Amino acid sequence: MPTMKCVWDNSHKYEVSGNEQYKTLCKSCYYNIYMKHYQSIYPFYDFVKNIKAIRIQHQLKEMIDEGCDFKAEFDLITNKIKKTHMKCLMDGKEYYVSENEEFRFLCKECFKKYYLPLKPYFTVNEIETILTGIKEAGSDIDAAFEEVLKNAKENTK
Ligand SMILES: [Zn+2]
Ligand SMILES: [Zn+2]
Repeated sequence: MPTMKCVWDNSHKYEVSGNEQYKTLCKSCYYNIYMKHYQSIYPFYDFVKNIKAIRIQHQLKEMIDEGCDFKAEFDLITNKIKKTHMKCLMDGKEYYVSENEEFRFLCKECFKKYYLPLKPYFTVNEIETILTGIKEAGSDIDAAFEEVLKNAKENTK
């Protein structure tokens, strides 16, 4: 049986049997660390890909007591790492999206206000182009938006 270094912390080796999913992790790390703490957050592939950052976070977490002052700050940092920082196309407001929502170019409010009404008539890319145009024209944004929406509705009649 081949022996491999466990990718969790390289401190120990283990024997690989068959082609189980924990082949890059030893059995113990697979069950006690991945399955127990991270399975619900990361698919296994992402877990392995980000294992260095996750391990550092994991070690920090173990050092920090629940409820201490630093804990809140730590959670905040953790969330910031996990999410991508974005700036809203329409009002410049800053917001965070999770990785699979990166196509979003609007904050929640503007998404509701500008994106949803146009959605039946245009693709995501078209909407982004339209909104960028409205924004760059610099005139009354809401009036310009109403105009676009009115034309879209009339054209599909
Ligand atoms: Zn291990
Ligand atoms: Zn916005």
